[in-house]
Amino acid sequence: MQLDGTLAYISLGSNLGDRAGNLLLAVRGLIEADLAVRRLSTIYETEPVGIDTDLKFLNMAAEVVVKDVKPSQMLARLLRIEYLLGRGDRPPGAKKPRTVDLDIIFFGSQVIDTEFLTVPHPRMHLRKFVLRPLAELIPNFVHPVLKTEVVELLAASEDRSAVHRWSPNAHTKGEAAA
Ligand code: ATP
Ligand code: CA
Ligand code: CA
Repeated sequence: MQLDGTLAYISLGSNLGDRAGNLLLAVRGLIEADLAVRRLSTIYETEPVGIDTDLKFLNMAAEVVVKDVKPSQMLARLLRIEYLLGRGDRPPGAKKPRTVDLDIIFFGSQVIDTEFLTVPHPRMHLRKFVLRPLAELIPNFVHPVLKTEVVELLAASEDRSAVHRWSPNAHTKGEAAA
């Protein structure tokens, strides 16, 4: 069946407050911003990489269908969702804990390099916390610049940080017994 629109992939992360709740509020924000969420990966708990914190992240990937929305417009919508969920109080680029971080990983096979937006995300291939969830959705998608499939990028990644599937039940087991 022909797809009416472009498939874009977003990496979602949270390491502050109710992390899973923040991810789900971000997904709701995507839908409300007319970014039609088609599939979600499972959620992973991941060690922070390249950021000034010890707090572990929850990460996931979302596949959205975008129609009549330019990449720059999509970025503006993502930044607005971040702002509404409480990321308004920090300068851009500050490597601090965040309630929610939304990055555009792929926008179809488009290659974009402007002052405000680089797609594919320039560090995605270095990060297992991006590649693992993404590989659930599009293992065989070919990175339009590196010309390599997502699963191959994951296999070749030298990122040794911990990335584990997260489950809400495992998380609350101890609390339930208390
Ligand atoms: P990193 O990009 O290494 O993951 P970060 O997500 O912590 O770092 P932010 O402070 O959230 O960085 O974003 C800073 C700016 O990056 C955004 O305001 C946006 O203009 C720019 N940017 C460039 N390319 C992208 C992209 N593909 N997705 C999201 N933001 C991007
Ligand atoms: Ca990021
Ligand atoms: Ca970001």
